[in-house]
Amino acid sequence: MNIAELDAIDFHVHVEQDAHGHFALDRELLDASARYFKADQDRTPTVEAIAAHYRERRTAAVVFTVDATTALGHPALSSEEIADAAAAHADVLIPFGSVDPHDAGAVRRIRSLVRDHGVRGFKFHPSLQAFEPDDRAHYPLYEAIAEAGVPALFHTGQTGIGAGLPGGRGIKLRYSDPMLLDDVAADFPELTVVLAHPSVPWQDAAISMATHKANVHIDLSGWSPKYFPPQLVRAVGGLLRHKVLFGSDYPVLTPDRWRADFDALDVKPEVRPLVLKENAVRLLGLGGPR
Ligand SMILES: [Zn+2]
Repeated sequence: MNIAELDAIDFHVHVEQDAHGHFALDRELLDASARYFKADQDRTPTVEAIAAHYRERRTAAVVFTVDATTALGHPALSSEEIADAAAAHADVLIPFGSVDPHDAGAVRRIRSLVRDHGVRGFKFHPSLQAFEPDDRAHYPLYEAIAEAGVPALFHTGQTGIGAGLPGGRGIKLRYSDPMLLDDVAADFPELTVVLAHPSVPWQDAAISMATHKANVHIDLSGWSPKYFPPQLVRAVGGLLRHKVLFGSDYPVLTPDRWRADFDALDVKPEVRPLVLKENAVRLLGLGGPR
C-alpha cells in the first residue's frame, strides 16, 4: 500500500457477499436493514466490488464481515477468504477478521488469521453476536488480539440490523453500550479499542472513554456527519482530534455521501487530514514497522 497516494482511509466497510454468492445475513435481516437505511446502492458488495469502488476514489478501506454464526444460526462469510481475496487488492484493502465469541476455537482462529492470512485487526458486533463484551469469559480473545498488536473494533450503539422487526429479531442493544468496553480498555491497556459509530444513545459515554483512556478511539461511521450531535462535532475538532477516524459503514452509507457531509461540518482544515487518514495510518501501523 502506497500511503502517500491515498486521499483517505475508510475504517469501516462491510463485505456482504462472498465469491460463492452467499450473503452475510439472512434475507429477512437484509430486507429489514435495507428499509431502515433506505440504501439505494448495491447492498451486498463482494471484496472485488469494494476494491473497485475505493480504488476509483484513491481511498483505502478496512474490510470485514461479522461472524455471528451461533447467535443468528446463519453461516458467516469466511474471514480467511475475505483476507485472502483482499490480498489481491493490497493497494486499497486492509482486511480485519471476525470470530464468533461463542466458538471454543476463537482464540486459535485469531492467531491463525493474523499469522496465515495477514489480518490487521478484528471486528466485533456485540448485539449481533449476542455477547457481553466485558464478560471475563471473552478475555482470552482480547489477550490474543493485544498479543498480535492489532486493533479491536466494536460496534457500539443503535443498529439497523433487525430494526422494525418484532423484538428487533431478538437482537439486544444493551450489549452495544460502549461503557461495557471501559472494563476491556482498562484491563488491556496495550489493546487498541475502537468504538464504532456515534454511539446512539450513549454518545457522551463514548466521548468520556476516548478522553480518559489513551487506547480508546472512535470511528465515525454509520451516520452522516450531518446528524452528528454537537458534542461529537466539538470533540472531533478539539480534544479527540487524534482519536477519531473516518468510516462510512459502506454499503449502508457511501464514502462520497459521508465525505460531502463531513466537508460541511464546522471542523478546522488542519483537523481534516487527521480524521480522514493520518489517525488511521498510526492505528493500523501503516506508517512503518509496527
Ligand atoms: Zn459495522
